[in-house]
Amino acid sequence: MALRVGCAAPPGRAHDNRTGSWRVFKPVFKYEKCVKCGLCEVVCPEGCVYEREDGFYEPDFDYCKGCGLCAEECPVDDIEMVQEEK
Ligand code: SF4
Ligand code: SF4
Repeated sequence: MALRVGCAAPPGRAHDNRTGSWRVFKPVFKYEKCVKCGLCEVVCPEGCVYEREDGFYEPDFDYCKGCGLCAEECPVDDIEMVQEEK
C-alpha cells in the first residue's frame, strides 16, 4: 500500500468523510487578528477550511475533525480550540 502523507483521505475524497457527533474540540475563528494568509486552509488535513467572499476563512463543521492543526499553525493565534458542547 502506498504511503500517504498529510491527508486523512485520498485526494478528492475528504468530503466523503462527514464528521458525525464524535468531535471533542472545535476551532473558533476569532477574526480579531486574522491577516487572511490562508495558512489554515492549506494545513487542514480535511480540506474543510474555505475562503469566504470577504477574504476571511472558516471551517465547514460537517467535515472538521477538531484536530487543531489550523490553530497550531495560525501565525497570529486567531483560532482557538474550544470543547465541543454535547
Ligand atoms: S491562518 Fe490565521 S491569520 Fe491566516 S487566514 Fe487562517 S485564521 Fe487568518
Ligand atoms: S481543527 Fe483540523 S479539521 Fe478542523 S478546520 Fe482545523 S485543521 Fe481542519
